[in-house]
Order: sequence, then C-alpha cells, then structure tokens
Amino acid sequence: MSKSTVVMKFGGTSVQDAPAIRRLVEIVETRKGLNRLVVVSALAKVTDSLVALCKDCEAGNRPQALARVEELKERHLAVARELGLKTETIDQVSELFLDLEGLVSALGALKEVSPRSKDRLLATGELGSSLLVSGALESIGRSSIVDSRDFIVTDSQYGGAQVNFSATNARISLVTWDGAEEIKVAQGFIGKDQNGVTTTLGRGGSDYSAAVYGTCLSAVKIEIWTDVDGILTTDPRLVPEATILPKMHFSEAAELAYFGAKVLHPATIYPALEKRIPVWILNSKNPTARGTEITFSEERAPAGISGIAFKRNVTLVNIYSTRMLGAHGFLKSVFDIFARHQLSVDLISTSEVNVSLTLDGNFSPEMLSRAKAELEQIAQVEVHAERSVVAVVGRGIRTTPGLAGQIFSEISDTNVQMISMGASELNISFVIENGELPAVVQRLHRKLQPGKTS
Ligand code: ADP
Ligand code: ASP
Ligand code: MG
Repeated sequence: MSKSTVVMKFGGTSVQDAPAIRRLVEIVETRKGLNRLVVVSALAKVTDSLVALCKDCEAGNRPQALARVEELKERHLAVARELGLKTETIDQVSELFLDLEGLVSALGALKEVSPRSKDRLLATGELGSSLLVSGALESIGRSSIVDSRDFIVTDSQYGGAQVNFSATNARISLVTWDGAEEIKVAQGFIGKDQNGVTTTLGRGGSDYSAAVYGTCLSAVKIEIWTDVDGILTTDPRLVPEATILPKMHFSEAAELAYFGAKVLHPATIYPALEKRIPVWILNSKNPTARGTEITFSEERAPAGISGIAFKRNVTLVNIYSTRMLGAHGFLKSVFDIFARHQLSVDLISTSEVNVSLTLDGNFSPEMLSRAKAELEQIAQVEVHAERSVVAVVGRGIRTTPGLAGQIFSEISDTNVQMISMGASELNISFVIENGELPAVVQRLHRKLQPGKTS
C-alpha cells in the first residue's frame, strides 16, 4: 500500500544559511515513515537581491549587477562548503550562477529586462536553494529534485502567473516515491507556461506552491515552516505582545492573509480547502512549539476576533459623480476602466454620488495615470497614495454587537478615510495614512485583545 504524503515548505529564513539548513534536515528526519516532499524558497533576501539586479540591468549598471551575481554565487558556494556537500552539487551551484552571469551580462548590455526575462532570472533563487537543501538531505536518506518547471503549469502572466490546475494535477499526481528513504525537494515560487517558458507565482508564492503540491498529492498535511511560532494575532514586528492562535478556521486565516498577514500567501488556503487538507504553520527555529493548525471543521475552530492584519502603501481612489444618481452602468464603467488597465481593486465602498476604492501597491504610476485620465471623462477623481488598510478579522464579528463602535471610538482621533465591512462579515476594514498605522494597530490590539474571546 502506498504511504501517506507530507508536504513541508521552508521559507527564506528557514534556509538562510548552513545552520538553518541543518535544522531543516533534522525537522525532515522527524517525518520519517511518510513520503516527504520538501518545498523550498530562495535563501533569505536572495529574491530581493535578484530584483535589485534586474533594476541595475535596466539602468545599464552592468558592473553593479555582475557584482551582485558574484556575491550571490559566493554566498551559495559558502553554504554548500559549510554543509560539506559533494563536488557534483558544488559544480551544479557554480553552473547555475554562471548561467545567471551570462543572462545578466546580456540584459545589462540591452538595458532592458522584460517581465519574462525577469522571471527566468528570479527563478535562480529557488533553483539554488533546492540544490543546497537536496544536497544536505542526503545525510539522512536518498534525495532527489523535483523540478517545479516540469510540474507546475501556469499561464504566461509573468511575475504573477496563475496555475493551470488540471494540467498541473495531471503531472504531479504521477510523482511516486521510491522506498521509505527517498526525500523529494521541489522549488517553490516557480513554474512554466504552456510554451515552456519559466514563470513565477508572485512574491511570497512558495506557500502557494506547497499547497498546490499538497493538494495534487492528496497529502495528509501541508506544513509551512517559517520564523514565527504560527499565525499570531497580528504581526509581532509591530506588536511584540501578539499571541499565537493555536487553531484557526480556514476562512479567518484566508482573510488575515488577504489583508496582508505575510506569514501566509493569500492563495494558499484554497487548493487545500478543496480536499480539506490541514495546513500547519510551524517555526523552524522552535520546531517543538505546537504551531497553528488551520482547520476546516466548523465546531472545532474558536470564534471571536482572531486578529488584525494590515497592508501598507495602498492607494485610495475617490470617484465623485452626480451621474451615479439613479444611473445604470456607472459602476460597471468604473470597474471596466480599472480592469482594462490591470489595476486590481481591493476594498470598495459606495454612496449615492461617490465610490471609494483601494488599489494594491503592485502597479506602475503610468498604469494609474492612464486609468485616472479615462475616469476623469466620466467623473471627478482624487488619488491618495501612501495609505494603509487595517482589517479586524474574526468569525465573531457578525455576532459581536457594537464592535464597529468600539473600534472607531478607540481611534477617534485618527483620520479614517474609508470603511468597509466585508460581505463575508468576517472583517471590518478601514483606510488610514501610512504614518498612523503602527499606533492604530497597537491601540486596537490592546483594546480588542484578539484571540482572547475564544
Ligand atoms: P517565510 O520567508 O518563511 O515565507 P515570511 O517573512 O514571508 O516568512 O512570513 C513570516 C513573517 O510574517 C513573520 O516574521 C512576521 O513578521 C510576519 N507576519 C505578519 N503578520 C503575521 C501574523 N499575523 N502572524 C505571524 N506572522 C506575521
Ligand atoms: N523567494 C520568493 C520571494 O521572496 C518566494 C517565497 O519566498 O515565497 O518572494
Ligand atoms: Mg513568505
């Protein structure tokens, strides 16, 4: 009979250097007896560095770009040596960076990096870490690399490709394990489109890769190993007294992720939901801590307010038009304009003559100004950058009377520029200035004590 499968994803800090990779090996060993698929992110900060390198190429600063390649190569080789990896692996690491060097040299000369070339370049991070991790795992078993470019099939939206689930499923479900000792290592974040071109799934996308693998393999568990003890009531970098949520309903976890809790990529939950595969968030630096279990069962998950999430650097757009009064199709025209310019709308609130909405930070100023010009043909438009969205999330929101009153009286001295209550009734969210964010989140956390009401 075939054994159960566990998918274990390790984020950047969990593979950042040789000691981290040694901890990973110890953790993977504790899952012996299961078919193990390890999904890895790039080493911490490597993707940022590759992004910076693309900017250098575009600016024609080839020496700086090549210096970054050298630095990255040395970092990976130093980890490989410290881990005592075999010569063959060390050679593969060198080759990977030789390849990168060739690419950077060409792009630096052209002073142009297309989204397609950028994805190819960014993939180096996950390709490098998979070599190091697979090499290190050989100390506890036989290890082989599953090249995600052969398994994760996507469309061609470079920088944020969508997974073609049926094509991907057809490939991943063919993966088999050759005996108890074998450990497989796959790169997170990357895939290939139908034309065989490398794509990436968007920043933080390795969590999503793990969920896709876990779902297609019908895993018993998807483990997301990171640098915090689980999902906390808010980001501990802003509120150090944030507490761990030992068990969360998937709908709340999805909502927190959607509103910016970086610990989990927002798309992660949905594939797992399809097969009700439990997702655990665990700390690779504290592997014996219980972690957070994301559960699909109604009765087991605690109610109440679970957490406060936030997103910085969103853009608020206010659109005014008396034509909205009783007019058909006004909102449709507004959304058509945003869609045409590939701007994705996050929050929305409307009145008789006004619609306010927020846009995520992921667009160029040109995209926004083109959309604004079109909107101005049908309405008056105000754009406010450098805003933040704060979301109070929890299944208790629909059952807690006066919660909105409590929230807004606590921060009554703050200039709240838009309020939206999610149709799911799982969140109350609002927009403030970036500068007010830390104090607002800290005060609300103290007042609402998320996690406590369960
Ligand atoms: P990884 O590299 O492992 O994917 P990330 O940096 O993407 O890790 O996510 C982990 C970080 O998410 C934490 O270090 C923490 O600062 C941040 N974070 C934001 N909101 C939360 C939250 N509600 N619970 C836990 N961590 C959070
Ligand atoms: N390495 C990629 C990033 O930094 C993907 C990930 O870490 O999930 O965005
Ligand atoms: Mg992450």
